[in-house]
Amino acid sequence: MSDASDLTSTERERILAKAALFAPPPATLPDGRRDLVGLSREELEAEMVAIGEKPFRARQLWHWIYHQGETDFARMPTIAKPMQAKLAERFVVGRPEAATVQTSEDTTRKFLFRFRDGQQVETVYIPDLHEDRGAVCISTQVGCTLSCRFCHTGTQKLVRNLGAAEIVGQFMAARDSYGEWPSPKDGTPRLLSNIVVMGMGEPLYNYENTAKALRIIMDNEGIGLSRRRITLSTSGVVPMMDRCGEELNVNLAVSLHAVTDELRDEIVPLNRKYPIAELIAACRRYPGASNARRITFEYVMLRGVNDSEAEARELVRLIKGIPAKVNLIPFNPWPGSPYLTSKPDQVRRFAEIVSGAGYSSPIRRPRGRDILAACGQLKTESERAKRGKADAA
Ligand code: SAH
Ligand code: SF4
Repeated sequence: MSDASDLTSTERERILAKAALFAPPPATLPDGRRDLVGLSREELEAEMVAIGEKPFRARQLWHWIYHQGETDFARMPTIAKPMQAKLAERFVVGRPEAATVQTSEDTTRKFLFRFRDGQQVETVYIPDLHEDRGAVCISTQVGCTLSCRFCHTGTQKLVRNLGAAEIVGQFMAARDSYGEWPSPKDGTPRLLSNIVVMGMGEPLYNYENTAKALRIIMDNEGIGLSRRRITLSTSGVVPMMDRCGEELNVNLAVSLHAVTDELRDEIVPLNRKYPIAELIAACRRYPGASNARRITFEYVMLRGVNDSEAEARELVRLIKGIPAKVNLIPFNPWPGSPYLTSKPDQVRRFAEIVSGAGYSSPIRRPRGRDILAACGQLKTESERAKRGKADAA
């Protein structure tokens, strides 16, 4: 192994160890019953074996939980009544509680989900305006350790990571809200057709739980969402990008936002650790980067900060040779935010330069701004409790 990859794996271990300090609480109710959502297939089998049942029960349950979306053991007719009762004594099929649900004038719907320990995150469903489909934007952390200058979530300290159950649970509860069970077997379209991991938090700083949740979501005997319908967005946690590509191979979105280290250091402080050259190299290595599976570069347009034509040309130079598209996101303001949205003409000029170089460069239409549901506007009230170990990290 080369020195460079040794360094990467040490760095990766450090990131995973830190994530463990912010682990979610155990998935057990006060009455001792365990939540089955969020267990891998193997763990679900082990739970069945532990109560003296055959492993095939796990497969049956998987179908009811993830294909049918059923939460009540009594409504699982392929399971005999005594067994249903036995399961109900020991387990639950949980959902996060929707503390509030708001629907925007443009039909975007924002959920505030509350978990068992009282912590909360926001999840947003963004319907396509032209077709019967849309994306659910899910969160992976309560708060964020990073503090990108333009992001509302970045003003909230990291409270804790979400567990796999809480990540899958956001999608399942959103589906409940639209009555979209059972999962389609034959590719029948669903309103909640895609997932973007672009809500609160940095998914690659909570890799294990995010990966476990996405594996559950992609499992063909359950929700069965294809990896092509899932996009994970990172602010550039370079050591974890390779792993994400090898193990999950979902679509990757990278929050670039600046084309010089000087500016990116300031607006995406993680850049001081993983500068632009390293980030772009990791994008070039990302598996499956082909024309059919382009990497999305996200670029928030901040007036007079990063929106000049010279910067558009530099952007094109930086990503040269990477099959990519560039999502231009007009800055979404939030209370107290320090930037202005770029002028529409400037965004258009920027887009023209990028598209002139052969990259698709859609300008993202802001959605759900009236309910603070647009990109970068999510934040919850919860504060970090005093936790000696985590604070010391
Ligand atoms: N932590 C991950 C995913 C969540 S943020 C990441 O940073 O990629 C999802 C996207 O919204 C990112 O591209 C982020 O930079 C962008 N964003 C954050 N604040 C924004 C704002 N105020 N206006 C527009 N986009 C914003
Ligand atoms: Fe965290 Fe992403 Fe917001 Fe940056 S943009 S503070 S990484 S959620």
